[in-house]
Amino acid sequence: MAIQRTFSIIKPDATKRNLTGKIIAKFEDAGLRIVASKRIRMTREQAEAFYGVHKERPFFGELVDFMISEPVVVQVLEGEDAIAKNREVMGATNPADAAPGTIRKEFALSVGENSVHGSDAPETAAEEIRFFFKDEEIVG
Ligand code: UDP
Ligand code: MG
Repeated sequence: MAIQRTFSIIKPDATKRNLTGKIIAKFEDAGLRIVASKRIRMTREQAEAFYGVHKERPFFGELVDFMISEPVVVQVLEGEDAIAKNREVMGATNPADAAPGTIRKEFALSVGENSVHGSDAPETAAEEIRFFFKDEEIVG
């Protein structure tokens, strides 16, 4: 597998509980490098556009409210097979189903407040990175 880049968000439930460093350590321990990072407060417009694929889902309104409720940390992670590796380190969407040692198993509060976002495919990774970062903000 080649070196890839993927997009990550440390979500409001985690920034609020001061877990940013512990979550970043999980990425780094898995061999992922943080090649871009910024702490932002997402606007409602950004959150609605970012999660546009889920617009028709019943949880959409709650998800948007949650994502703008506290700061988030948006990041680009780089490494061998980074997209799948990040999903592995994150664990299943619902923390009740997440494997031991994963971020969501250790830190997530619920299926909604589940501490991290990660891209699910090369196309979405490229799109999500572009949504939040300019080329010059990514330093490999
Ligand atoms: N989500 C939720 N309820 C659900 C499913 C998802 O609140 O029943 C939220 C949750 O925060 C999740 C996000 O919507 O991380 C995006 O859902 P997706 O299915 O893409 O999960 P992910 O890719 O984050 O594992
Ligand atoms: Mg997803």
